[in-house]
Amino acid sequence: MTVPIAKLSFWGVRGSTPTVDPATWRYGGNTPCLELIAPDGTQFILDCGTGLRMLGSRWATPNGGKAPETQILVTHYHWDHIQGIPFFSPLYVENNEFHFYSFRSKYLGRDSLKQVFEAQMALPYFPVDMSAMNAKRKFKEMDGGDTFKVGENKITARWLNHPQGCLGFRIETPAGTVAYATDNEPGDPKLDESLRELAAGADIFINDAQFTPEQLETTRKGWGHSSWLEGVKVARHAGAKTLVLFHHDPDSTDRMVDSILRQAREEFDSVYAASEGMVITLGAPGDRVQAHMPGTRTALRREAQFHAKVCGVTEGGKDFEEETIVRDISLQGALISLKHLPRLQSELQVTMEAPGADGVQAMNLRGYVVRIEAGPEKGHVAVGVVFTD
Ligand SMILES: [Zn+2]
Ligand SMILES: [Zn+2]
Repeated sequence: MTVPIAKLSFWGVRGSTPTVDPATWRYGGNTPCLELIAPDGTQFILDCGTGLRMLGSRWATPNGGKAPETQILVTHYHWDHIQGIPFFSPLYVENNEFHFYSFRSKYLGRDSLKQVFEAQMALPYFPVDMSAMNAKRKFKEMDGGDTFKVGENKITARWLNHPQGCLGFRIETPAGTVAYATDNEPGDPKLDESLRELAAGADIFINDAQFTPEQLETTRKGWGHSSWLEGVKVARHAGAKTLVLFHHDPDSTDRMVDSILRQAREEFDSVYAASEGMVITLGAPGDRVQAHMPGTRTALRREAQFHAKVCGVTEGGKDFEEETIVRDISLQGALISLKHLPRLQSELQVTMEAPGADGVQAMNLRGYVVRIEAGPEKGHVAVGVVFTD
């Protein structure tokens, strides 16, 4: 008998608007889109932010045959949760079939999500119209409190506290339970209770962590979002096992998200900050929950043989220090001091040498000049390069 495993992939984790600011590349700039593959093979997509385009470009049809039906749950109609739809290539392929679930908005009336599709692709907002979308699309209306089954999986929806409304989803699979609660603000007793119901005993509880606790109490109060601290409180109260901080503010740099994560980890045992490309598996033997970061998010990699001393903290929370050999290094860029003045946006060949395990090691890299400033020494310039090859 095979062990039931569910796979949860994060294709977009940023809130409000996409960002391509280099200071945000590590956690990623695409807006919300998650994919959950249940043990029975049912594919769920949660939200259609700009991350949906990436999912579409990696779309794999099992066995090259007829694509299975995909269940797409949309939490609400703010731009950051729907903007990926026109750019989702599988919607233009005839054999694909999608079941869309969302609520009836009082601003749109019947067939709210269908209207959102049409409005987004209306002229002059998009170059092709709906007739180009050949995949089968079925739209189902749902409401907070609804529960239904797809295959072996039970889906529950609950209202969350957010301007113009937002649904949270709980998906119970034989491998474990995922609660997805993006875009919500604490402070409404009834809706706070709904959130706790969604998260009750969940293996993975994904919660809005856009603002700091200080912002949430002052300048950002009433904006419809939450903080890492509120997530921790709900996770604790509801007995959720792992908390995932989600919907990062577009103005939060990677260093700021690092700091948010560090604070949350001081208060709760198992916390991750959602990161584009992150995959969490549920139900694997041993650890019930395992997070992976596939290589797709890492920069250029090079084999190396450098001596190194490493200090850190163990999974169990103890400090450690050890000597080792760096065997593989990822390189994004460097700042180089030069007497020559290279042309901005030109290529440089850079050979780096370092004492390795077996003598001096050389690394040949191609750099692209992105920045030139006055150097620290007279007659030198400081050249910023990004490694490309
Ligand atoms: Zn949002
Ligand atoms: Zn929203």
